[in-house]
Amino acid sequence: MTSNELFKPKVEWRYVCWNRLNIPKSSFIYRATVQGRLLTKDRLVRMGMVMDSACFLCANGDETHHHLFYACCYSTQCFTLIQQALHIQLQPDALHVWFNKSHGKSKLQKRMVCAIYVAMIYGIWRARNKARVADVVIHPTYLVKHILKDVLNRFWARNSGKMTRKEADWLANIV
Ligand SMILES: [Zn+2]
Repeated sequence: MTSNELFKPKVEWRYVCWNRLNIPKSSFIYRATVQGRLLTKDRLVRMGMVMDSACFLCANGDETHHHLFYACCYSTQCFTLIQQALHIQLQPDALHVWFNKSHGKSKLQKRMVCAIYVAMIYGIWRARNKARVADVVIHPTYLVKHILKDVLNRFWARNSGKMTRKEADWLANIV
C-alpha cells in the first residue's frame, strides 16, 4: 500500500489543504504528506542515502508516512491531546469520517478542526526534524499547546465575521 492510498481522503484533500484558517506553511507540509513526498527515512533508505529506517521520534518502527503521522506513539499522543482540547472524537487517520458526520458542528468549527489537524501534521514533521538534527524530542504537551495557540491567534487576528454564541464558547474552551 502506498502513502497515497493510505491518505486517500473522502474529504477533498484540497479543501482541507487550502482551508482559509490554515497556517500557510502547514498547508504545504500537509500537501506533501498527502502526496507521500516528504523525505521520510523509508524513502531515504530506498535512495541509498541512509541505512537505518528507525523512527526519530520513538525508535520503535520504520519511519514511513503512515507510521510517523498515524502509528507512532508520539503522534498518537499528540492527536489524543488535540481531541481532548477540542472535545471531539477524531481518529487521526480518519479526518474524513469525522468531517462527513455533522456532530452538531458548524462550518466554522469544521474549518477550525481542519486547520488544527493540518497544523498538527506540520508540528509532528517539525518535531521529527528537530529530533533528527538536535537529537531532542519536543514534549507532545508542549507541541500541542503551541499548535493550538498559533492557529487560534491567527484566527482571532484575522476574523472579522460574525459567529454564534455556541461557536464563540467552543473556541473559548479550546485549551
Ligand atoms: Zn515513531
